[in-house]
Amino acid sequence: MRISEKTLLLLWLSLPLFLRAQEAPFGVQNTIAQYKQAIKADEQNRMVELKSVVPGLVYDLRYATANNFMHRTMYPAGTHQTFLRMPAARALQRVQAALAQQGLGLKIFDAYRPFSVTQRFWELVKDERYVANPAKGSNHNRGTAVDLTVIDLKTGKELPMGTGFDNFTDSAHQDFTQLAPRVLQNRLLLKTLMEQQGFQPLRTEWWHYTFSDNNSYAILDLSFKRLKQLQR
Ligand SMILES: [Zn+2]
Repeated sequence: MRISEKTLLLLWLSLPLFLRAQEAPFGVQNTIAQYKQAIKADEQNRMVELKSVVPGLVYDLRYATANNFMHRTMYPAGTHQTFLRMPAARALQRVQAALAQQGLGLKIFDAYRPFSVTQRFWELVKDERYVANPAKGSNHNRGTAVDLTVIDLKTGKELPMGTGFDNFTDSAHQDFTQLAPRVLQNRLLLKTLMEQQGFQPLRTEWWHYTFSDNNSYAILDLSFKRLKQLQR
């Protein structure tokens, strides 16, 4: 049997799709049609730009700049939007409202992360201590995880939390207590308010929280630009 050039070309073109499918056994939603279908089935699946529902929110989207542990820009230059699923965004708005009563607010380092970016992190680092394994996916890909800290609304300064964002030492762990009392207080304040609104902390990163409700949200691979275009 003679395999035509056209067949070879088709095989070659479908190879990346095959590889990607192998890496992500859970299925990735990467078309607008799939995403719209999911919203039609359940409005809770809608991805919401955070500033549109959380007044006064401050962004420092570290992967949109080289100011991160990778020392590279992982998101397209000029990414000024970030997203979470609607129930998570609304829960964050309630945390912000509670903080505002004390003259405090939230600063977001990261929230939704397209699945292809998680794959790129993995290609560069390949170490589960620092990045999510694409074979498992990340809750950032589901639009339910957020990395954040607390700021003073008057000065815009971050409250001391003992370490910066993406610090991979023990001192960033939730159960690490050899810290100044005010640092422990600040971490506890964030944790208490986040938990009250349905977010769960991560043991190893004081800044990372995952919203959990009864919904199971799909892994998404839609660009920030696409999601921005789809905002109402
Ligand atoms: Zn995170």
